[in-house]
Amino acid sequence: MPLSPEQQAEIDALRAEPAPTLRATVPAMEEHLYRAAPVLDHGFVRVVDYMGDDSAICQAARVSYGRGTKSVSNDEGLIRYLMRHWHSTPFEMCEIKLHVKLPVFVARQWIRHRTANVNEYSARYSILDREFYIPEPDALASQSTSNNQGRGEALAGEEAERVLRYLRDDAMRAYDHYEEMISDDGQQGLARELARMNLPANIYTQWYWKTDLHNLLHFLRLRADSHAQYEIRVYAEAIGEMVRDWVPFAYRAFEDYRMGGAVLSAAGLDCVKRMLKGEEVTQETSGMSKGEWREFRSIL
Ligand SMILES: Cc1cc2nc3c(=O)[nH]c(=O)nc-3n(C[C@H](O)[C@H](O)[C@H](O)COP(=O)(O)OP(=O)(O)OC[C@H]3O[C@@H](n4cnc5c(N)ncnc54)[C@H](O)[C@@H]3O)c2cc1C
Repeated sequence: MPLSPEQQAEIDALRAEPAPTLRATVPAMEEHLYRAAPVLDHGFVRVVDYMGDDSAICQAARVSYGRGTKSVSNDEGLIRYLMRHWHSTPFEMCEIKLHVKLPVFVARQWIRHRTANVNEYSARYSILDREFYIPEPDALASQSTSNNQGRGEALAGEEAERVLRYLRDDAMRAYDHYEEMISDDGQQGLARELARMNLPANIYTQWYWKTDLHNLLHFLRLRADSHAQYEIRVYAEAIGEMVRDWVPFAYRAFEDYRMGGAVLSAAGLDCVKRMLKGEEVTQETSGMSKGEWREFRSIL
């Protein structure tokens, strides 16, 4: 369960106390505030706070006094220009603070994104819940034969059942021992900071994660991409939906230039020019390695 009834009640209480503000707000983002979007079997992402909107990006770019600009289309044009030319600091003027509940093995990938501020639930201080990520059958995939860092077809039949049983049983057994080790039961019990080392990496942790829009888009480009592991990708996709509502112009430009666009090397650009002239270009005549050629062809 992503949120317990007590946690939900706390969040609802905050939602029930709106306060007027002079700060820039985005109606669609206000809807996201204090609401948890479920991800995986027990995880969620929820917006705790945000600062800025599309106009804040323009305001910063122009260092203007007012809300930004003359017209909405001007704003979108400027944002597209900034994105197209890899400007970064205007996008850093928008910030977002998220509360995320995620499996530890996903957190290990996520934490590599250093340009964020993080505060994680302390398993030295608190007792972790008995919540483990167990993949849905279609996410229970085999090792990919073509990509060492990827997965292939979903496991089926007996093999799938056996794997699921191992995942569940091992998690439960480890948690039983964790509980047993920390419980005093008349004795002192093992310190929580030590007992946790027995827990598997599919246990859930939680953190507050604050970052700016520029670095968030960088995170989304890497983690909402098809090369990212499914379990982190679903979080990136959930956040993407929030960003779309928060800064629609910036998100559209991001989808266009980053997610949907491609960067070509000088050799790649040369090949495109030769192809446009009607020349038949092959890997051998392209000046590219086999891997580069394969990626170039897939872009085209
Ligand atoms: C599909 C995929 C597979 C991956 N596989 C592996 C793997 O096998 N092993 C592994 O270890 N990692 C792996 N990673 C992690 C990856 O190498 C990066 O560490 C991670 O994506 C964070 O990216 P980042 O450093 O650009 O982000 P951030 O840390 O958020 O940094 C954003 C940008 O800020 C700048 N920056 C931040 N800190 C510094 C600094 N100290 N010095 C200079 N510039 C800085 C850089 O320009 C950087 O791009 C993988 C990532 C992906 C998406």
